This record gives sequence, C-alpha cells and structure tokens, in this order.
Amino acid sequence: MIYDKNNIFAKILRKEIPCNKVYENEHSLAFDDINPQAKVHVLVIPKGPYVDVDDFSKNASKEEIASLMHAVAEVCKITKVSLTEGGNGFRLIANTGPDGCQEVPHFHYHVMGGEPMGLRGLRKP
Ligand code: 5GP
Repeated sequence: MIYDKNNIFAKILRKEIPCNKVYENEHSLAFDDINPQAKVHVLVIPKGPYVDVDDFSKNASKEEIASLMHAVAEVCKITKVSLTEGGNGFRLIANTGPDGCQEVPHFHYHVMGGEPMGLRGLRKP
C-alpha cells in the first residue's frame, strides 16, 4: 500500500489548500467536509501518512490511535451530536478501498449527524 503524498488531505495538512478546521491535536486534524451530506459532516484524519483504516490500525502508534479517537470524541462534543453531551447521536464511517467507495486515499473518519441520517453516508449520492 503506497501513500500518495499528493492526495487532497495531504495538501490540507501541508496548508497548501484551506479547510474549515473544527479541531486539532498533536496527531489529528478535523475539518468540515467540502460537500456535506448532513447538517454536521466533519472529517477526522491522522496527520501521519496512512492510506486507510487498515493501514492506520496496523502501522500507527498507540499515541496516534488514541489521539484520533480523542479527536472524534471532541468533534462530537463541539458539534453537539454526542449522546453523552446531550446530543442525539451520529454516524461514524470509514470508507475503505474500491468496494468501500473511498475517494481520498488518506485515512479519514466521517462524523455525520445533526439530523436523522437514514441511509445517508451509506451510499454515494
Ligand atoms: P471518501 O469517499 O474518501 O470516504 O470521502 C472523501 C470526502 O472528502 C468526501 O465526502 C468529499 O466531499 C471530501 N472532500 C474531497 N475534497 C475535499 C476538499 O478539498 N476539502 C474538504 N474539506 N473535503 C473534501
């Protein structure tokens, strides 16, 4: 699995293109999806060069993995979708590879919510 340094999220991490940042910590960055499929649609990515969730799970450090899950929790709190913070829940998705319809080859979670999700996020529009 070869990481493509020119993928769009690598460019966002290098600040070559802008994003609407929601949260950042040492190893992770979260920003609004450019084409939101729900009222809340935030992408949470590791800063390291991981292609997908499989690559990340196998090759990232414990600190990077903990950092990413912490970032997910913080995003859910900030966007008020967290059940433990009085929100109404959300969908967490990691599209992976061709069958998973992954378009950007840098691992990312989609945090989607703010309204009933139905099948959104489970199929491409
Ligand atoms: P995937 O299909 O890989 O799981 O999702 C990629 C996501 O990245 C899509 O939801 C798409 O809207 C989003 N996206 C693609 N290009 C950009 C961009 O330049 N900026 C931001 N913020 N999101 C992007």
